[in-house]
Amino acid sequence: MYTSIIEELNKTDITLVAVSKTKPLEKILEIYNQGQRIFGENRVQEMVEKQEALPKDIQWHQIGQLQRNKVKYIAPFVALIHSVDSRRLLEEINKQAAKNERVIDVLLQVKIAEEDSKAGWNEEEIFQFLIDENWKPLVNIRICGLMGMATFTSDENQVKEEFRNLKNIFDKLKTQHFKHDDSFKHLSMGMSGDYQLAIEQGSNMVRIGSLIFGSRQ
Ligand SMILES: *Cc1c(COP(=O)(O)O)cnc(C)c1O
Repeated sequence: MYTSIIEELNKTDITLVAVSKTKPLEKILEIYNQGQRIFGENRVQEMVEKQEALPKDIQWHQIGQLQRNKVKYIAPFVALIHSVDSRRLLEEINKQAAKNERVIDVLLQVKIAEEDSKAGWNEEEIFQFLIDENWKPLVNIRICGLMGMATFTSDENQVKEEFRNLKNIFDKLKTQHFKHDDSFKHLSMGMSGDYQLAIEQGSNMVRIGSLIFGSRQ
């Protein structure tokens, strides 16, 4: 099962983030040995422990909600933070990146689902934030695109609509704010249950856990 999805996506330009949260080191190594190098985690402590134990050419992506006081633990190594949902978090990432003398790539998380439990900015907030240009002095972060999660529902049309909405926001931001910025290029949307719909709607980065590793308890 897992082999086929890695192979399937390898034939495309779509980046696969293998979501390894809760999964043990041996399982991750198994997938690593099939060539996969990008892994996603949502808990800081867990990511730090796995990063220390596993091969150093793994690129670790933070995909879940991130508390500001924990940024310092992943700042030395994290490759991409998908879940930036506030200006204050962005500022903290910038500060910790500077301490580590590096630039950290981030995505802005957009709230496209109807559930209140899902984090993120709404469209208006993002545009306001970018227009203010207060983020421009944050030279130790690089805004590389957007991330979103669709509503957990069996209604495919709703999921499709939410992904389409996120793609539209991405395209608008690209032309209005990042036209000459090649690093603004990632649209992270789609998980095990909805990645095909997400790709149809223009996703170029999918975060897939249970389809690769089996279900989580
Ligand atoms: C857990 C998680 C995933 C992967 O979920 P699966 O349904 O197992 O593919 C993707 N994105 C985020 C933000 C997650 O927390």
